[in-house]
Amino acid sequence: MKKEKALVVFSGGQDSTTCLFWALKNYKEVEAVTFNYNQRHKLEIEIAESIAKEQGIRHHVLDMSLLNQLAPNALTRNDIVIEQKEGELPSTFVPGRNLLFLSFASVLANQIGARHIITGVCETDFSGYPDCRDQFIKSCNVTVNLAMDEQLVFHTPLMWLNKEETWQLADELGALDYVRTKTLTCYNGIPADGCGECPACVLRKNGLEAYLNKKEAAQ
Ligand SMILES: [Zn+2]
Repeated sequence: MKKEKALVVFSGGQDSTTCLFWALKNYKEVEAVTFNYNQRHKLEIEIAESIAKEQGIRHHVLDMSLLNQLAPNALTRNDIVIEQKEGELPSTFVPGRNLLFLSFASVLANQIGARHIITGVCETDFSGYPDCRDQFIKSCNVTVNLAMDEQLVFHTPLMWLNKEETWQLADELGALDYVRTKTLTCYNGIPADGCGECPACVLRKNGLEAYLNKKEAAQ
Protein backbone atom coordinates (compact mmCIF):
# COMPACT_ATOMS: atom_id res chain seq x y z
CA MET A 1 0.00 0.00 0.00
CA LYS A 2 2.79 2.35 0.98
CA LYS A 3 3.97 2.65 -2.61
CA GLU A 4 0.63 3.65 -4.03
CA LYS A 5 -1.37 6.81 -4.40
CA ALA A 6 -4.53 7.63 -2.48
CA LEU A 7 -7.33 10.15 -2.78
CA VAL A 8 -9.09 11.27 0.42
CA VAL A 9 -12.66 12.54 0.35
CA PHE A 10 -12.09 15.53 2.55
CA SER A 11 -14.39 18.03 4.25
CA GLY A 12 -12.08 19.55 6.84
CA GLY A 13 -14.02 17.93 9.69
CA GLN A 14 -12.77 15.64 12.43
CA ASP A 15 -13.50 12.39 10.61
CA SER A 16 -12.07 13.16 7.20
CA THR A 17 -9.02 14.91 8.70
CA THR A 18 -8.32 11.78 10.74
CA CYS A 19 -8.64 9.83 7.48
CA LEU A 20 -6.18 12.23 5.86
CA PHE A 21 -3.56 11.43 8.51
CA TRP A 22 -4.34 7.73 8.15
CA ALA A 23 -3.71 8.05 4.42
CA LEU A 24 -0.50 10.03 4.91
CA LYS A 25 0.77 7.20 7.08
CA ASN A 26 -0.21 4.44 4.69
CA TYR A 27 0.44 5.81 1.21
CA LYS A 28 3.37 7.22 -0.65
CA GLU A 29 1.33 9.94 -2.24
CA VAL A 30 -1.92 11.51 -1.05
CA GLU A 31 -4.30 13.99 -2.64
CA ALA A 32 -7.61 15.26 -1.29
CA VAL A 33 -10.93 16.19 -2.84
CA THR A 34 -13.55 18.51 -1.36
CA PHE A 35 -17.01 18.92 -2.80
CA ASN A 36 -18.33 22.44 -2.88
CA TYR A 37 -22.11 22.47 -2.83
CA ASN A 38 -22.64 25.76 -1.04
CA GLN A 39 -22.23 24.25 2.38
CA ARG A 40 -23.81 26.01 5.28
CA HIS A 41 -20.44 27.56 5.93
CA LYS A 42 -18.00 28.70 3.29
CA LEU A 43 -15.50 28.31 6.08
CA GLU A 44 -15.64 24.52 5.58
CA ILE A 45 -13.96 24.90 2.20
CA GLU A 46 -11.40 27.37 3.54
CA ILE A 47 -10.51 25.05 6.40
CA ALA A 48 -10.16 22.08 4.07
CA GLU A 49 -7.90 24.18 1.84
CA SER A 50 -5.69 25.35 4.68
CA ILE A 51 -5.30 21.85 6.17
CA ALA A 52 -4.36 20.45 2.76
CA LYS A 53 -1.84 23.25 2.31
CA GLU A 54 -0.33 22.71 5.75
CA GLN A 55 0.03 19.01 5.07
CA GLY A 56 1.56 19.72 1.69
CA ILE A 57 -0.94 17.76 -0.36
CA ARG A 58 -2.62 18.57 -3.64
CA HIS A 59 -6.22 19.59 -3.05
CA HIS A 60 -9.06 19.41 -5.54
CA VAL A 61 -12.24 21.38 -4.94
CA LEU A 62 -15.04 20.17 -7.19
CA ASP A 63 -18.07 22.29 -7.87
CA MET A 64 -21.13 20.29 -6.87
CA SER A 65 -23.54 23.18 -6.70
CA LEU A 66 -25.92 21.09 -8.79
CA LEU A 67 -26.79 19.31 -5.54
CA ASN A 68 -28.84 22.38 -4.70
CA GLN A 69 -30.96 21.72 -7.78
CA LEU A 70 -31.64 18.19 -6.57
CA ALA A 71 -32.28 18.93 -2.93
CA PRO A 72 -35.92 19.49 -2.04
CA ASN A 73 -34.99 22.61 -0.14
CA ALA A 74 -35.80 26.25 0.08
CA LEU A 75 -33.71 26.99 -3.00
CA THR A 76 -36.00 24.99 -5.24
CA ARG A 77 -39.24 24.82 -3.31
CA ASN A 78 -41.01 27.63 -1.57
CA ASP A 79 -42.69 25.43 0.99
CA ILE A 80 -39.52 24.22 2.69
CA VAL A 81 -37.37 26.35 4.96
CA ILE A 82 -33.63 25.70 5.27
CA GLU A 83 -33.29 24.37 8.77
CA GLN A 84 -31.87 21.58 10.82
CA LYS A 85 -33.86 20.23 13.69
CA GLU A 86 -31.88 18.62 16.46
CA GLY A 87 -30.86 15.11 15.57
CA GLU A 88 -32.45 15.22 12.11
CA LEU A 89 -31.04 15.53 8.65
CA PRO A 90 -30.80 19.10 7.39
CA SER A 91 -33.58 20.10 4.99
CA THR A 92 -30.88 20.61 2.35
CA PHE A 93 -29.82 16.97 2.58
CA VAL A 94 -29.67 15.20 -0.76
CA PRO A 95 -30.52 11.50 -0.72
CA GLY A 96 -27.70 9.47 -2.23
CA ARG A 97 -25.16 12.21 -1.71
CA ASN A 98 -22.36 9.76 -0.94
CA LEU A 99 -23.22 7.80 -4.06
CA LEU A 100 -22.57 10.97 -6.06
CA PHE A 101 -19.47 11.95 -4.11
CA LEU A 102 -17.87 8.52 -4.38
CA SER A 103 -18.68 8.33 -8.10
CA PHE A 104 -17.06 11.71 -8.75
CA ALA A 105 -14.12 10.85 -6.50
CA SER A 106 -13.65 7.65 -8.51
CA VAL A 107 -13.52 9.54 -11.80
CA LEU A 108 -11.00 11.96 -10.28
CA ALA A 109 -8.95 9.05 -8.88
CA ASN A 110 -8.88 7.57 -12.35
CA GLN A 111 -7.65 10.88 -13.77
CA ILE A 112 -4.87 11.40 -11.24
CA GLY A 113 -3.78 7.78 -11.14
CA ALA A 114 -4.82 7.09 -7.55
CA ARG A 115 -5.81 3.52 -6.83
CA HIS A 116 -7.14 4.04 -3.31
CA ILE A 117 -10.08 6.17 -2.20
CA ILE A 118 -10.47 6.93 1.49
CA THR A 119 -13.72 8.13 2.98
CA GLY A 120 -14.57 8.85 6.61
CA VAL A 121 -18.07 7.43 6.51
CA CYS A 122 -19.07 5.54 9.58
CA GLU A 123 -21.85 3.09 10.27
CA THR A 124 -21.68 3.52 14.03
CA ASP A 125 -23.30 6.95 14.06
CA PHE A 126 -24.62 7.14 10.53
CA SER A 127 -27.72 8.96 11.73
CA GLY A 128 -30.00 8.06 8.89
CA TYR A 129 -27.71 8.19 5.89
CA PRO A 130 -28.09 4.79 4.20
CA ASP A 131 -25.18 5.50 1.86
CA CYS A 132 -22.79 5.61 4.83
CA ARG A 133 -23.31 1.91 5.43
CA ASP A 134 -20.60 -0.63 4.81
CA GLN A 135 -22.76 -2.64 2.46
CA PHE A 136 -23.33 0.38 0.24
CA ILE A 137 -19.64 1.34 0.17
CA LYS A 138 -18.66 -2.17 -0.94
CA SER A 139 -21.40 -2.25 -3.55
CA CYS A 140 -20.41 1.17 -4.88
CA ASN A 141 -16.78 0.07 -5.08
CA VAL A 142 -17.75 -2.87 -7.28
CA THR A 143 -19.96 -0.67 -9.43
CA VAL A 144 -17.37 2.03 -10.19
CA ASN A 145 -14.81 -0.63 -11.06
CA LEU A 146 -17.26 -2.20 -13.49
CA ALA A 147 -18.14 1.22 -14.89
CA MET A 148 -14.54 2.23 -15.56
CA ASP A 149 -12.83 -1.14 -15.90
CA GLU A 150 -10.69 -0.10 -12.93
CA GLN A 151 -9.35 -1.69 -9.79
CA LEU A 152 -9.97 1.07 -7.31
CA VAL A 153 -10.10 0.16 -3.63
CA PHE A 154 -12.39 2.05 -1.25
CA HIS A 155 -11.17 2.34 2.33
CA THR A 156 -13.29 3.32 5.33
CA PRO A 157 -10.96 3.46 8.34
CA LEU A 158 -13.72 4.79 10.60
CA MET A 159 -16.53 2.47 9.53
CA TRP A 160 -16.81 0.56 12.82
CA LEU A 161 -15.44 3.18 15.18
CA ASN A 162 -17.44 5.35 17.55
CA LYS A 163 -16.34 8.94 18.22
CA GLU A 164 -14.18 7.90 21.17
CA GLU A 165 -12.34 5.42 18.99
CA THR A 166 -11.97 7.97 16.21
CA TRP A 167 -10.18 10.28 18.65
CA GLN A 168 -8.03 7.34 19.68
CA LEU A 169 -7.09 6.72 16.05
CA ALA A 170 -6.16 10.39 15.63
CA ASP A 171 -3.98 10.09 18.74
CA GLU A 172 -2.31 6.93 17.45
CA LEU A 173 -1.54 8.81 14.25
CA GLY A 174 0.05 11.59 16.29
CA ALA A 175 -2.64 14.04 15.22
CA LEU A 176 -4.95 14.43 18.20
CA ASP A 177 -4.10 18.06 18.92
CA TYR A 178 -4.08 18.93 15.25
CA VAL A 179 -7.52 17.42 14.65
CA ARG A 180 -8.84 18.98 17.82
CA THR A 181 -7.71 22.51 17.05
CA LYS A 182 -7.80 22.77 13.25
CA THR A 183 -10.97 21.02 12.10
CA LEU A 184 -14.57 22.16 11.78
CA THR A 185 -17.46 19.89 12.69
CA CYS A 186 -19.83 22.37 14.37
CA TYR A 187 -23.20 23.05 12.71
CA ASN A 188 -22.79 26.66 13.80
CA GLY A 189 -19.54 27.04 11.89
CA ILE A 190 -17.18 27.42 14.85
CA PRO A 191 -13.88 25.55 14.37
CA ALA A 192 -12.03 23.40 16.93
CA ASP A 193 -14.15 22.69 20.01
CA GLY A 194 -17.05 24.54 18.33
CA CYS A 195 -20.17 25.95 19.96
CA GLY A 196 -20.33 22.96 22.30
CA GLU A 197 -24.09 22.71 21.99
CA CYS A 198 -25.15 21.57 18.52
CA PRO A 199 -25.54 17.80 17.92
CA ALA A 200 -22.20 17.59 16.08
CA CYS A 201 -20.35 19.35 18.89
CA VAL A 202 -21.98 17.21 21.57
CA LEU A 203 -21.03 14.00 19.76
CA ARG A 204 -17.49 15.24 19.22
CA LYS A 205 -17.08 16.50 22.80
CA ASN A 206 -18.49 13.36 24.43
CA GLY A 207 -16.19 11.20 22.34
CA LEU A 208 -13.15 13.30 23.22
CA GLU A 209 -13.94 13.31 26.94
CA ALA A 210 -14.50 9.56 26.93
CA TYR A 211 -11.21 9.00 25.15
CA LEU A 212 -9.18 11.36 27.35
CA ASN A 213 -10.66 9.77 30.49
CA LYS A 214 -9.80 6.32 29.24
CA LYS A 215 -6.28 7.40 28.38
CA GLU A 216 -5.79 8.98 31.78
CA ALA A 217 -7.11 5.89 33.57
CA ALA A 218 -4.65 3.73 31.65
CA GLN A 219 -1.65 5.80 32.71
ZN1 LIG B 1 -21.53 23.29 17.44
